[in-house]
Amino acid sequence: MAIRSDLADAVGNTPLIKLRAASEQTGCEILGKAEFLNPGQSVKDRAALFIIRDAIAKGKLKPGGTIVEGTAGNTGIGLALVGASMGFKTVIVIPETQSEEKKDMIRLAGAELVQVPAKPYRDPNNYIRYSMRLAEELNKTAPNGAIWANQFDNTANRQAHIETTGPEIWEQTGGKIDGFICAAGSGGTVAGMAAALQPKGVKVGLADPDGAALHSYYTTGELSSSGGSITEGIGQGRITANLEGFTPDYCYNVPDREAVEIVFDLLENEGLVMGGSTGINIAGAIRMAKDMGPGHTIVTILCDYGTRYQSKLFNADFLRSKDLPVPKFLDRAPADLP
Ligand code: PMP
Repeated sequence: MAIRSDLADAVGNTPLIKLRAASEQTGCEILGKAEFLNPGQSVKDRAALFIIRDAIAKGKLKPGGTIVEGTAGNTGIGLALVGASMGFKTVIVIPETQSEEKKDMIRLAGAELVQVPAKPYRDPNNYIRYSMRLAEELNKTAPNGAIWANQFDNTANRQAHIETTGPEIWEQTGGKIDGFICAAGSGGTVAGMAAALQPKGVKVGLADPDGAALHSYYTTGELSSSGGSITEGIGQGRITANLEGFTPDYCYNVPDREAVEIVFDLLENEGLVMGGSTGINIAGAIRMAKDMGPGHTIVTILCDYGTRYQSKLFNADFLRSKDLPVPKFLDRAPADLP
């Protein structure tokens, strides 16, 4: 693997990093799969690659064709980069509430960016539904046709984790893994990991932010939610095709306060600059470690790089506006410097 044939070939095979504070406070070995080291700096590069390969194999995506997707951002970045490396164009539909850094990166990656007002999934103008209609239109007019990636209900997404992330983690831990946990956006990661690891005896947990409906679904059988979260890319309100057949062994609702404190601590003490969903994941791993007891090995996902959220998660005014704790390193006036 010394020379990768193209950028698509550089997706995956990310390191597993021991998370010191989380491990120390639980007496477990808590490990993070460093997905922020993918070429597009997020876990979604894997789904993007598998969705593109699947569409090519099925004859839907023709050379020079266009890939259309509705995304909170990371899937768009992955599709744009992997797509460009394989000669495809991309058109990305994003809710305008997502971070400016992700929007800039999508444009930089060469995709055309369409911003739409944030609307619930049931609304016909929700970004996902909008992207589906746009793909249908572009398929009639674009020179080499267009496909809709449909990450939420296209199980090529989950397949990426069944075929790559799961086996990588199994091999990296030498099979010494007792638990895996992460949050769900499309659900591709958590359900794919469950399909790969539960048959090997590994317990799989779901960490859900406020405002998502999955914790309620898996604990009471009803999809209901309350509150909201500053985290991006996670917090699902329905059972997507990727989540079908998935049953978590552990399930936690994690408030933002718990997640952001972990993110700030990682940045200050472990050199890891992570986005908010990683905080939810590690908070979930800590809770699962406490429930399983000391001595277990639990793996979670380090989803994306924190520079993607400088204007929000790492902005003191934004944090104050959400009634969240402001870490000292963000709140330092120039006069405080030596
Ligand atoms: N974290 C971030 C930052 C994401 O962008 C996403 C995907 N939208 C996830 C976590 C969740 O991944 P999945 O779609 O596989 O559930």
